[in-house]
Amino acid sequence: MSEPPDDNDAAASGRPADIAVLVICDRCGDTQEFPISFPVFIGWAARRIPVQDAFAHLSAPEREFIKSQVCPACWTTQFGAHRHHV
Ligand SMILES: [Zn+2]
Repeated sequence: MSEPPDDNDAAASGRPADIAVLVICDRCGDTQEFPISFPVFIGWAARRIPVQDAFAHLSAPEREFIKSQVCPACWTTQFGAHRHHV
């Protein structure tokens, strides 16, 4: 499938945050809230917006936390300095 993102998603990407999503670490149970835009979050959850576009305002470890429920500390513990995939 290679259908381009529709206008709604293109407009949604880059919107200011309007809600906070609470992420719980799968490994240590640590929790963190991230301010996000709900329409962008939905677009990402539906795999229409790439994570790096949807959460461009967050750091790479923070995006990874939302994506995989592994907090930056646990990620570092598990994978060390190895660069995570995008
Ligand atoms: Zn953790």
